[in-house]
Amino acid sequence: MSAASRQASDLLVQDGKVSAVLQPGAGEGIEVSEILDASGLLVFPGMVDLHVHIGEPGKTEKEDIGTGTRAAAAGGVTTAVIMPNCIPPVNSAEALVRRAELFKNKSFVDFALLGGAGGESIDTIVEQAEAGAVGYKSYVGAYRSDRPGLLCKDTADLYQVMEKSAEVDRFVGYHCEDSRTIDLLRNRLLDAGRVDFRAYHESRPEFTESLATVALLEVARETGGRLHLVHMSSPWAIELANLYWAHGTCVTVETCPHYLVFSEEDTARLGPYAQVAPPLRSLETVDVLWSLIEDGSIDIIATDHAPGTPGEKVRGKQNIFEGGGGLPAVDVVWPLMLNEVNRGRIAAESLVSLMAERPARMARIYPEKGSLLPGSDADMVLVDMEEVHHLSADRSYTKHRDSAAIYDGIEIAGRVKTVLQRGRVLSRDGVLEEEKPVGAHWVRP
Ligand SMILES: [Zn+2]
Repeated sequence: MSAASRQASDLLVQDGKVSAVLQPGAGEGIEVSEILDASGLLVFPGMVDLHVHIGEPGKTEKEDIGTGTRAAAAGGVTTAVIMPNCIPPVNSAEALVRRAELFKNKSFVDFALLGGAGGESIDTIVEQAEAGAVGYKSYVGAYRSDRPGLLCKDTADLYQVMEKSAEVDRFVGYHCEDSRTIDLLRNRLLDAGRVDFRAYHESRPEFTESLATVALLEVARETGGRLHLVHMSSPWAIELANLYWAHGTCVTVETCPHYLVFSEEDTARLGPYAQVAPPLRSLETVDVLWSLIEDGSIDIIATDHAPGTPGEKVRGKQNIFEGGGGLPAVDVVWPLMLNEVNRGRIAAESLVSLMAERPARMARIYPEKGSLLPGSDADMVLVDMEEVHHLSADRSYTKHRDSAAIYDGIEIAGRVKTVLQRGRVLSRDGVLEEEKPVGAHWVRP
């Protein structure tokens, strides 16, 4: 399938690439070494996931390259774009090159790396691009010592980061929450003795997201930098982005499966296991997010894959402000979205642009990735839209199955049957077949 259309075709693959897209049966005389029968199935380009947290090196307690990329391979994320949060963080060319070597030896899926951008790394933004960064990640607000080089402590930092990133034509993905206002609200709740899960939501209302977004949009408008708003959950903030975009600002918007399939109503049941930042929103907001997908205000879906450790989740039960946020998602993103296709929320064709084509274009690795045009890498996800199954953490490759248990029991119509990377079968029915880490590093041509 392509973003525009679905058609019955025979796909010819040679040397890991799609060599031809033929009318069914038109390739009959061509000699092939293997035939994969996909009749009755839909074939999607593999997901290009622009938001994957794998903390290796240095921060492997949540997920390491082996566990995280096996989960991706099982789930149909064939290009994982890796966030720079690790120890030491990626904030220089040297750190990026070192990390690429690690991933080349251990990754089960193809990958691209994001650099780190912030007040302390303005001077390394260009060298990180030259070393292969396809974009950057940055945070706004209060200083966190575990993110050196990834923080814009004020709008002056922000301005310089956007200016520099524009020089190398890379997007900067920003976490949009106003941390100082959140600190204030959290301290008020703590003073009132509130440490329950609802207090976490009350400390991060939607306006803290739009508040941070406004400053980012203004700086992007002025500098001409490519602003990417990651894991957005606030419709108002997204509408603002849309307004700026309509007036020529280069801005893209991402949301995540958890904002589309869960709501804050689920938190009574899931407690700290549903702790994410920004938090899950109301059912009403979830409906508006779907309409913003439909009208094109949301550009991409990415996972923000980041399983929490058991310790973090246990601490969160006692005091939610001591817990650690994050959900695993690379292995369930396809089934969750396919189910929404079957529920009539979204067209299957739209998933191609949201999950493959647009993210690949943003990273400038399209059409090698994110497409099944002749010449593209044969990264494919074969899907049976009819098959009904239940999600279960028992089958997950992620490091923390208790974190993956938030999806347990969800009935899904639509199943990923086979995942291919450059023509090789990575997994079938969610079970890994590839035994060797075959992931290649993707940089801009
Ligand atoms: Zn993230």
